[in-house]
Amino acid sequence: MLIGVPKEIKNHEYRVGLTPSGVRELVAHGHKVLVQTQAGLAIGFTDEQYIQSGASIASSAEEVFSKAEMVVKVKEPQPVECRMLRPGQILFTYLHLAPDPEQTKLLTESGAVAIAYETVTDERGGLPLLAPMSEVAGRMAIQAGAHALEKAQGGRGVLLGGVPGVAPARVVVIGGGVVGLNAARMAAGLGADVTILDKSLPRLKEIDMVFGGRIKTLVSNTANIDESIREADMVVGAVLIPGAAAPKLVTRAMLGNMKPGAVLVDVAIDQGGCFETSRATTHQDPIYVVDGIVHYCVANMPGGVARTSTQALNNATLPFTLELANKGWRQALLDNAHLRNGLNVCHGKITYKAVADDLGYHY
Ligand code: NAD
Repeated sequence: MLIGVPKEIKNHEYRVGLTPSGVRELVAHGHKVLVQTQAGLAIGFTDEQYIQSGASIASSAEEVFSKAEMVVKVKEPQPVECRMLRPGQILFTYLHLAPDPEQTKLLTESGAVAIAYETVTDERGGLPLLAPMSEVAGRMAIQAGAHALEKAQGGRGVLLGGVPGVAPARVVVIGGGVVGLNAARMAAGLGADVTILDKSLPRLKEIDMVFGGRIKTLVSNTANIDESIREADMVVGAVLIPGAAAPKLVTRAMLGNMKPGAVLVDVAIDQGGCFETSRATTHQDPIYVVDGIVHYCVANMPGGVARTSTQALNNATLPFTLELANKGWRQALLDNAHLRNGLNVCHGKITYKAVADDLGYHY
């Protein structure tokens, strides 16, 4: 199969659909890969590296879209990209269609077979192509929060790990899923005093086992949240209620009880945020202060470490990309129910129930 990789065109998107090592793997399985020139240059993947891995280089996105049987990307296709898709062509990328009626309409009009990373499942009920970005965001939350704690950023001037003779910072993580676990791991690794709150007792038991008592666990309720954030230097918001807006677990009134200069990192901002005072920010202007509390609410955290994120995403997507390329989409989807769950649009029809229901399409 001929697989095409266009350069991402969304503002400040530096990730790329396939790494050179991903290309090498596909070529080793007998496929051809066409990469748009400079598609990975911003994160250190040069055209020469792609050529050495067996790819050909295309001079434009038009060339990639017109020749490829399958287009592999990162972000949802922009209108100009949707219009280049053709009937039967496979599109494998993040789509996030439910809040995006324009893209949905354009994809149905294209007649393409659009498979969304975010709805592919695994045997444990997880979302294996979303998890790598949650791992990145969770780990990055501590890095970003540690920086925000510095005086120059408006923070308390506290070092996460303390030093011999000085107590470490207190980090509270609300939500112990993929983001929360990775944030806790980083904070504990830096020597902070870490507490995780989650609604799920089985999850807290698992976390307790994983960390062998190195971090504290608390069941998530208003009283425990209220009490633990009073003492916190950094609070990480990492909750998720699938398919719903994040619950506002920390109200503006609660900020008044926190230490001035404490930091809130709201990773759940892409679902509306779990702090009442959160509003989405960007990597260019990531923090702001409300009532003396520093907020970091970047909606696309993995984009800030685009090289690591691209590699992590490729590790997860490549086995599915290979399956689609080896078998063609029909057979691959027939054989693999988890990959089939990724199918969102097929030959003009919406094939994912939640998207059809949300946007009023016939399913
Ligand atoms: P996950 O499903 O793995 O974990 C969510 C956890 O939240 C679960 O353990 C659940 O039990 C817990 N939870 C639900 N309600 C709670 C409550 N009231 N109190 C405490 N815990 C509660 O999800 P995840 O992959 O860790 O993602 C967490 C959030 O981070 C999501 O909103 C996701 O969209 C977001 N995210 C943001 C970025 C970014 O760049 N900002 C990147 C990746 C993920």
